Amino acid sequence: MDGNEPAGMSHLRRMTRASQFGVARARAGRPAACFKAALRPALRYHACMPSVQRSYRIRAFPNGAQRRFLDRWFGASRWLWNTALDIRSAAYRECGLKLTGIDLSRWLTAWKRTDQHEWLAAIPATCLTQILRDQDRAFSNFFAKRAKYPRFKRRATGGSLRFQGVGTAWSKEVLVLPKLGPLKLAEALPDVSKPDMVTLRQDSAGRYWVSFSAEVEIDLLPVTGRMIGVDLGLTHLATLSSGEKVAAGKHYANRLRYLRRQQRCLSRRQKGSKRREKQKIRVARAHAKIADTRSNSLHELTTRLVREFDVICIEDLNVKAMARGMHAKSIHDAAFSEFRRQLTYKANWYGRTVIAVDRWYPSSKLCSGCGHKLDELRLDIRRWKCPKCGREHDRDINAAQNILADGIRQIAGGDPRCMRVEPGSTCTEETRAQVPGDEARSGQIHASGTEREHAI
Ligand SMILES: [Zn+2]
Repeated sequence: MDGNEPAGMSHLRRMTRASQFGVARARAGRPAACFKAALRPALRYHACMPSVQRSYRIRAFPNGAQRRFLDRWFGASRWLWNTALDIRSAAYRECGLKLTGIDLSRWLTAWKRTDQHEWLAAIPATCLTQILRDQDRAFSNFFAKRAKYPRFKRRATGGSLRFQGVGTAWSKEVLVLPKLGPLKLAEALPDVSKPDMVTLRQDSAGRYWVSFSAEVEIDLLPVTGRMIGVDLGLTHLATLSSGEKVAAGKHYANRLRYLRRQQRCLSRRQKGSKRREKQKIRVARAHAKIADTRSNSLHELTTRLVREFDVICIEDLNVKAMARGMHAKSIHDAAFSEFRRQLTYKANWYGRTVIAVDRWYPSSKLCSGCGHKLDELRLDIRRWKCPKCGREHDRDINAAQNILADGIRQIAGGDPRCMRVEPGSTCTEETRAQVPGDEARSGQIHASGTEREHAI
């Protein structure tokens, strides 16, 4: 990362890094932006920077005219999807024909010329072909048994369009969509090269979002030399082996009363009425609010963990099975799988390691001090005393410490290749140094010895 790199490179990297997080953007004028753009290819091939595919989602605020256009276009795209699906299903059912998007796009061209369907020509042609292509993918997913049979789209679920020709104004930090013009966004466009495709979506709460993905370079975070075990739970979202407890959001439970009231109101509204439509949006907004706060607190936690620790040990929970059980609602609310997904991709970006500890590992029943295993530990017992060494344990902290100890054991005793560390980074030596050398070599790592060191 350092050493024999050309002078000025580190300055450059600092600059691009700052702009990634929107720090320099506000102050950087045109000349700086051009300078950056000119040097982007050089930076891309700089070995220190792994590039990752990153997706962005930005709130959009179309103006009145754009909203009216979009309303019509979403309707048209839904019509095309449903008609194409209908034709495909009928062709297969009645003649055994497997139509493809290419066949249908020929029909589409013919439809555009007819009097009843000339409104199709008002929509960017690439958006329409994209719908047929999406349906192709939906069908191939179905035939590969990855998904269910494609379904008809309903109006209630909002709509989406995928635009291909994004305007050249991208470099001027303006998003111009074909036949729609410049679009007002909630934040500045990221400093990435122009994406091939931009999706514009309206969710059920009536909000508009643009999303796209781009390849970006991300610097590895500096090595901290610390490890942590994380125990996920319902009373606390996460308990860290350092003894810290992160409170569960309980977003759903907190907003449930409000949501219930709105939902009751909705059920009283007459079907097909204007007021029912309005109330529907209010309910959708309440749901969206819950989802937003939840995802925000999850992002805060995972980002913090990735920033502060080199190695993060978590439990490999079977969330699907748990969510069928007694505490299904709170498990869905705590969003365990989303926690793991975020943690994994962020660790990948910044050169951290996430270790999943076997789900059958008895992390709660084991004494983190002496390794004594209890026969049984009821769920309602939050604190217990080890019968062998007499140590007092908090149930969750003890579990987190055991998870950390088992994670360390995996690194030390297991295949070193299971550590996912970027080549060329300095992570490897540093993290290995965490495990006392002699113990690591003899494979006799004891839970107590190592874990107390890192717990501090
Ligand atoms: Zn003990």
